[in-house]
Amino acid sequence: MTDEEKPITEVKIKKNKKCPPHKYKRKNLTRSKSKEPFLVFKCVECPHYVRTELAAGLEARCYKCNKPFNITVKQVSVTAKPICEECIVKSSKTKKLEAEVDTLLDEILKGL
Ligand SMILES: [Zn+2]
Ligand SMILES: [Zn+2]
Repeated sequence: MTDEEKPITEVKIKKNKKCPPHKYKRKNLTRSKSKEPFLVFKCVECPHYVRTELAAGLEARCYKCNKPFNITVKQVSVTAKPICEECIVKSSKTKKLEAEVDTLLDEILKGL
């Protein structure tokens, strides 16, 4: 008898090597507008999601630079795409710069 038992083929589960920490984006899982919204932070790279009210303090990946950081309570309520502090500083600087350019342009236009 040479009945060889075939080894059970390994089930290959496609694992996203980047997760966790997950890269979150806020989503409303309620499709009907008449119902109360069910807000979650859904990972953009795997099926994982977490209710927004439970997301504060969780480790996540920055939506912009992919660096791991902890979601703050403020971000949970304000932002749809949580980003790290470095990127927040960067984006606020650009906004400030844009505002400065705007006022400068205004002044130039006034002078004309
Ligand atoms: Zn994920
Ligand atoms: Zn970042």
